[in-house]
Amino acid sequence: MSVVVLVGAQWGDEGKGSVADVYASGVDLVVHYAGGANPGQTVVAEGERMVFHVIPSGTLRHGTPCLLAQGMAIDPTLLLEELEALSSHGAQNAELKICRRAHVVLPHHLMVDALRGEGEGASGAPRRGIGPAYGDKVARRGVQLGDLLVPERFTRKLHASLEASEPVIRALGGEPPEAAPIVDRYLACGEKLRPMMVEGSRYVAEARAAGKHVLLEGPFGAMVDVDQGVYPYVVGTSTMAGGACTGVGIAPRDIDQVVGVAKAYSTRPGQGPFPSEVTGALATRLQKAGGEIDPISGRPRRCGMFDVPALRLASRVSGFDVVALTKLDVLTGIDELPLCVAYELDGEELSEPPYEGQSRIKPRLEMMAGWTEDLRDCRSWDDLPDNARRYVERIEELSGLRVGLIGVGPDRSESIVRETPFS
Ligand code: GDP
Repeated sequence: MSVVVLVGAQWGDEGKGSVADVYASGVDLVVHYAGGANPGQTVVAEGERMVFHVIPSGTLRHGTPCLLAQGMAIDPTLLLEELEALSSHGAQNAELKICRRAHVVLPHHLMVDALRGEGEGASGAPRRGIGPAYGDKVARRGVQLGDLLVPERFTRKLHASLEASEPVIRALGGEPPEAAPIVDRYLACGEKLRPMMVEGSRYVAEARAAGKHVLLEGPFGAMVDVDQGVYPYVVGTSTMAGGACTGVGIAPRDIDQVVGVAKAYSTRPGQGPFPSEVTGALATRLQKAGGEIDPISGRPRRCGMFDVPALRLASRVSGFDVVALTKLDVLTGIDELPLCVAYELDGEELSEPPYEGQSRIKPRLEMMAGWTEDLRDCRSWDDLPDNARRYVERIEELSGLRVGLIGVGPDRSESIVRETPFS
């Protein structure tokens, strides 16, 4: 039995879904502990691309049970749509449970997100109503999934939440939705989801007690954590490993390992400081080779070089035991690879991102020799070209962390597994 947390070590989009999928063969239960509909976790299996927004990608493994835990904000209409799509891919036997304490994303949450667009403080989070739903949660007027099973309670809570959103929607130029159709639609969703609803923390405790291997997967990355990130360029929830404790309802001592997932370069959705950002030909190259297109805006993502100070911070607050380094193949063909090894702020060298002065940081660079070989057929450490190995080793030296998995292509077979947390 082991409980492993999978955390994004950067700003999100690190390939967590793909890493979870590589580990899936050894996992008995996948749990998503925070966030909600993500921009889309793409998993390529046997050459077929599938995009999931709510359902953990581990569901692709037939029969791998999944739990959407209490820390999530879930749009039940989207979840039901995905379940239908999944059943058409023959994955209808996968056991999916939802914690009844998870919060519900309602139509006016989606509306507020859509009307706000990419305003001040935008984190780059997909505008799927999660932020407004978390806003209601902390204001203590949120609706939990379990409320959808009690019509009178749901109706009362919906009105309170809707009422609070009305002046906001009007101020943004929108027209608030009617309550009655929402009541009917969401109560119907509740009935469909009833058989899946559980007390999530108990479900995970029972899985542990039965000796199962449990993978707890977080949303986004450590650098946009609501507490640790550069506020307000953050998401509405805890993306650090500690978020797994509250988002699932599991004691810190019951977590056996933490895996940090980092891309071999950086990307940052939305606004906010990005010290290792690159522009020009290198940015275009990373955007093209890495498929770094924002699925919501359709615009290329901001790209940067690998940021060691960010990895150090992410590891310090989440306690990485090992790092999964994805998308190393994307760097093929770049003559000289800049590596951001430290920050410089007002003449001082910093080993980690500071609280103040993020926008004045200058990255301190080390130039690494690149390689020209295609990595997609590499399946072992020794298959990698010398310079690719040196690049990974330098990241290990500078961060003091071991890279246990290397992604060399989007398919789950395209990876080098040096060690797995489930052995
Ligand atoms: P997440 O949001 O962190 O879960 O990221 P995803 O799992 O959605 O991965 C982002 C994208 O990167 C997907 O299109 C993946 O197929 C792709 N991807 C993941 N790992 C690799 C890799 O090692 N190489 C390449 N070329 N693509 C990868």
